Amino acid sequence: MTSKVSDVLRYCPNLPSLPGVVVRIVEMGRDPDVNIGALAGLLAKDPALSSRMLRVCNSPLYGQRRTTTNLHQAVMLLGLNSTMTMALSFTLSDLFGAAKAQKSALERVWKRSIVTALAARKIGERAGLGSLDELYLGGLLQDLGILALYAAVPDRYLPLLEQYDDHQSFVRLERDALGYDHGEAGTWLMQHWGMPERLAMTALAVHSPDSDALDDEQKQFVYPVAVGAQLADFVLSEGSADAMESAASSASDWLGLAPDSLASLVEDVVTDLPEVGALFELEVVSQAMAFGLADQAREILATRNLRLIQQATEHHQRFIEMEQAAELLQKAAIHDALTGLHNRRHFDQILDIEFGLAIDNAWPLTLGFIDLDHFKQVNDTEGHLIGDAVLVKVAGVLKKNLRERDYIMRYGGEEFVVLLPGHGLEGALKVFERLRAAVEQTLHLGESGGRFHVTTSIGIAAHMDGECRLEDSIDLVRAADRALYDAKRLGRNRIVVAA
Ligand code: GH3
Ligand code: MG
Ligand code: MG
Repeated sequence: MTSKVSDVLRYCPNLPSLPGVVVRIVEMGRDPDVNIGALAGLLAKDPALSSRMLRVCNSPLYGQRRTTTNLHQAVMLLGLNSTMTMALSFTLSDLFGAAKAQKSALERVWKRSIVTALAARKIGERAGLGSLDELYLGGLLQDLGILALYAAVPDRYLPLLEQYDDHQSFVRLERDALGYDHGEAGTWLMQHWGMPERLAMTALAVHSPDSDALDDEQKQFVYPVAVGAQLADFVLSEGSADAMESAASSASDWLGLAPDSLASLVEDVVTDLPEVGALFELEVVSQAMAFGLADQAREILATRNLRLIQQATEHHQRFIEMEQAAELLQKAAIHDALTGLHNRRHFDQILDIEFGLAIDNAWPLTLGFIDLDHFKQVNDTEGHLIGDAVLVKVAGVLKKNLRERDYIMRYGGEEFVVLLPGHGLEGALKVFERLRAAVEQTLHLGESGGRFHVTTSIGIAAHMDGECRLEDSIDLVRAADRALYDAKRLGRNRIVVAA
């Protein structure tokens, strides 16, 4: 709380105050062994208060099965907490009613408090919370600070009240103009009155119920009041869709209330509202308006629900599309677009893995480079497109002549690399001879209908084969590359084994 607020309120001579009887009741509230008879005796000293108490006791708020006409009995039925709640609620009603200037804004604030109180209580009832009276009071007292500031700094506050429209903008207006808001003032005044701390804190907390400054227990208490306040905004705006949307998302986030439960809650609140308003001699909403509001809430919530389902479906769809795109990208990153074989990047990863596996399992690994002979000439005479077709066909022939467990990758240009795990040079030589012969025998169709063959030169080297054991996979690549160079030098269309 800012010290500004307490400076303003502390020395104010005409702050709203509680009548003596109510002060005594609040004091009794702190006494665990309070005597109900004494409480009834105290109330009897204030006939106006007593008769109002009896009316509330018989109202739907308390839903007593039989009508009570006896004050002592009423107090017994209600207990101390509810008695205190009622006494305070009437005091508050009087305080709001007594404020002379800016009547309409204050009446609107008071009506909002009443709706909040009723809604918070109903939320508590549904959630099985034990502190229904406290929730009700939390709603009623939330804007007590407005009365306090109106009394303390009228010259500065009345112009603000004149601009009162919706509650949230009013809070912003206060903070801009004064440096604090009525929530702080309300908490200060309730502490000053000796109210229980949880209630006092609500005035401050209800403007930012999700604040990190609140612990979980405080939040559990403030949430129903805050959602109640949002429902009150819906009621007082005569059914604004925006207000119901905010209420619905808070109700779902904070209280886990589904749209259906919220709709029936609204119906419940507006149904009781005319009667509860009457307790305070106020028409919060008319009977007809109450029915309309319940329907409106149901419709807004149903539309919202459909929209949320649709959004969720779209999100899901987009997620799947993104996953598919990522998968494609991932695939493209390690594949060669022309031949569909794995590419050099994949080869580098696989080589290291297989090189290590060969050592760990003491099995041989043979690597062979396969390079097309005089491929430049093919391009020159037949054109690039035919050259491409040759590369694709050769890739297919090589792949077809290998086992599932072997690797064939396009190393770059017209050069392929084959990895044979489990094969030493002797076995590998047979495999590569099969590959060389298969490529040589393959017929390619030229641009002008002529047919031609291409041949390959192959250099191979082995790791973990007999005595041969290499330090690094790069040595295996170098040895095979040198062997390929020798195969070219020795006349092409042949296989050379690394020395
Ligand atoms: P050598 O027998 O010495 O290997 O002769 P070569 O002509 O095959 O070798 P060189 O390295 O001189 O030329 C390779 C040719 O391969 C040149 C290049 O245009 C062609 N080439 C590389 N990649 C592709 C490709 O994707 N498509 C086509 N059509 N040609 C390619
Ligand atoms: Mg070549
Ligand atoms: Mg080459």
